[in-house]
Amino acid sequence: MKIAIPKERRAGEARVAASPDTVKKYVQMGFDVQIEAGAGAGASIADAVYVEAGATIAADAAAAFDADVVLKIARPTDEEIGLLKEGSVLIAALSALTHKDMVEKLAARKVTAFAMELVPRITRAQSMDILSSQANLAGYKAVLDGVHEFKRAVPMMMTAAGTVAPARFLILGAGVAGLQAIATAKRLGGVVYAFDVRPAVKEQVQSLGGKFVEVDPDATKDAETAGGYAKEMSEDYKAKQAAKIAEVLAKTDIAICTALIPGKPAPVLITEDMVKGMRPGSVIVDLAVEMGGNCPLSEFDRVVEKHGVTLVGHGNVPARLAVDASALFSKNLLNFITPLVDKENKNLAFNWDDEILKGSCVARDGQVVHPALVG
Ligand code: NAD
Repeated sequence: MKIAIPKERRAGEARVAASPDTVKKYVQMGFDVQIEAGAGAGASIADAVYVEAGATIAADAAAAFDADVVLKIARPTDEEIGLLKEGSVLIAALSALTHKDMVEKLAARKVTAFAMELVPRITRAQSMDILSSQANLAGYKAVLDGVHEFKRAVPMMMTAAGTVAPARFLILGAGVAGLQAIATAKRLGGVVYAFDVRPAVKEQVQSLGGKFVEVDPDATKDAETAGGYAKEMSEDYKAKQAAKIAEVLAKTDIAICTALIPGKPAPVLITEDMVKGMRPGSVIVDLAVEMGGNCPLSEFDRVVEKHGVTLVGHGNVPARLAVDASALFSKNLLNFITPLVDKENKNLAFNWDDEILKGSCVARDGQVVHPALVG
């Protein structure tokens, strides 16, 4: 069986879906591994390193897609879908729920397609969880991006020439990205406040040394879904939340926005009036910008200044740490594939009753199959 890793073609995508370590593992399982020339360049992995790990190099995309299993980071372009072999398997972060037309094209091509972002977040699948591995890096990088734009120091410094006050952070959304942002801002010496609608995170915020911003503990008792995600909140709660955030923001130097609601536009947490109320030179990093942003003033893939505040809206933040992001994403893919390997036939065997496969497969046997996409 041949596993192929093509070069990513979407703008700004520097990651690669296999590392030299995972290539070695696939080769040990008895697979032929083929890497498109230059696929690892964005993650500083030379073709020769892949060859050392046991891969062969495919000269171009057509050769790279000629495989039984194709591993990718980003959803394929139309051109790439045209290169996939009928009956092949595609495993990638497909953004399937927002790109149904692409899933239909994959089904028409008779590709069995797995969307890694839909792998259920159950304990058994933790090692396959690309959302966590990539969000963790994004939370870290967001703090560095914010500090980069900030014209002051973060830690308190007591010098002969005077004292520099520590920078104050507000982290909005304390999920995977937000918790890493809190930890990173603390490591840099910042004073860190954090807010989330899910009351369960209060303890996690505090254990990282953050101060939890409390809005209305009674209203948030059922703010969490059974899956651990946030629900959309009532208008009354939103008004109280806005007043509290405005109050904290007025004293904040760097705000890091990570609040998301699965399948919905990002909640607006920082309005234009709140931006006007911030001190000149403050910074907002909006990691939610791809879902519309937690601040409507942030712009996708741009750094802009409005009302004296710098708004950072980098898209695809994990790709800005392409080496680590590729290594972790590749490991997630390896952990997804390993239980599927039929050791005798050196092939993949699918148990369609398995909730991990049912939850992540979006196309097979010429049909769109995911429950969220059919009916
Ligand atoms: P996410 O990216 O969907 O959201 C980020 C954060 O934004 C969440 O904490 C959410 O509560 C928060 N948020 C949403 N609306 C908000 C609002 N209006 N104001 C403030 N904050 C708001 O979430 P995520 O980081 O991917 O993970 C969310 C949960 O899933 C966490 O509890 C995490 O521990 C859990 N999780 C479980 C597993 C597992 O068990 N395998 C794996 C990963 C994550």
